[in-house]
Amino acid sequence: MTPLPYARQSISQADIDAVVEVLRSDWLTQGPAIGRFERALATVCDAPHASAVCNGTAGLHLAYRGLGLGPGDRLWTSPNTFVATANCALMCGAEVDFVDIDPQTWNMSVAALEAKLDVAARDGQLPKIVVPVHFAGAPCDMPAIHALSRRYGFSVVEDAAHALGARIDGVPVGSCHWSQAAMLSFHPVKIITTAEGGAVLTRDADLDARVRLLRSHGVTRDATAMEGPAEGPWYYQQTELGYNYRITDLQAALGLSQLDRLDAFVARRRALADRYDRLLEGLPIVRPARRPGRESAWHLYVIRVPAGPGARARLVDGMHGAGIRVNVHYIPVHTQPHYRRLGFAPGDFPHAERYYAEAVSLPMYASLTDADQSRVAETLRRLLA
Ligand SMILES: *Cc1c(COP(=O)(O)O)cnc(C)c1O
Repeated sequence: MTPLPYARQSISQADIDAVVEVLRSDWLTQGPAIGRFERALATVCDAPHASAVCNGTAGLHLAYRGLGLGPGDRLWTSPNTFVATANCALMCGAEVDFVDIDPQTWNMSVAALEAKLDVAARDGQLPKIVVPVHFAGAPCDMPAIHALSRRYGFSVVEDAAHALGARIDGVPVGSCHWSQAAMLSFHPVKIITTAEGGAVLTRDADLDARVRLLRSHGVTRDATAMEGPAEGPWYYQQTELGYNYRITDLQAALGLSQLDRLDAFVARRRALADRYDRLLEGLPIVRPARRPGRESAWHLYVIRVPAGPGARARLVDGMHGAGIRVNVHYIPVHTQPHYRRLGFAPGDFPHAERYYAEAVSLPMYASLTDADQSRVAETLRRLLA
């Protein structure tokens, strides 16, 4: 029996046909599918601007650069995230710091953020950008974070890599009603896929223009954006130092086709989460928190195994032995060797560290069958007995 993964893509014949159609067309890279994909993303997220890029990490880097993050600036995020969220700030030459998580929601604690801002304001060390991460697809408390951003004068970039399809009081994550920008990832384990791929959403036309400029070398063909006159129809100008962070037409066509099934993907994930809640009832574990008005996209279904040292590792080994490839999200970023060399140490963010010691991500993806899910639950029951 092939092992059950913790996550995987779901590819239909329509997805395959969409990619093949691009292969037979005139453009493999900067063709018409990209604009269509961007407009469809903007529509589903209810944001005016969406720029597709080569991966989610590039999206974060461009959002941070677009907001002017550079040497001498600070960016704060959650330690319970993938390393990319913090790394992109280092890539801008800025300093990174973290805000511990809420032990119930596993997202950045708003109370901890407020306390840290209060100290930073007194010391003149306020962050330029704060990056809440909608961990596992469960939305952060964006209205509260937005209120703090107004009071202390920082920008907010949402790491929404897990959260396409999530909603806050009915408002889609990615709409940027409480932030300057939001990043999506379309890696195959995420809600929809373009293989590698990502996007930056914003309500700010100037920020969107900067993201588009920087994703393509800082080069413009728009005469109104040039210094001095255009010298002819061949003419382009590099006005800033940018990158090649473009997505391809092949990927955009796949993403556009996947977006047709976004609602079905998220509905299936939600049904699986509800079913896990029932199947795991009574076990000595903590199930994901639910909050009224906050609809998760259920990228991950994480349980905590609080049975003391070694219990989590034994459970992971047991699940792997039974052909169920559970995973762990996330090793707190500040405990990584690269971050320890920057001065962070274990003990700095105790809630994230305690959470990490107990966390296990169970299989969660749209094509997971009820029968396979029941096997996951039965195996857990046996191993925890
Ligand atoms: C996947 C992910 C990223 C990076 O996205 P890529 O598309 O893999 O570059 C960033 N942050 C979080 C929380 C992620 O899960």
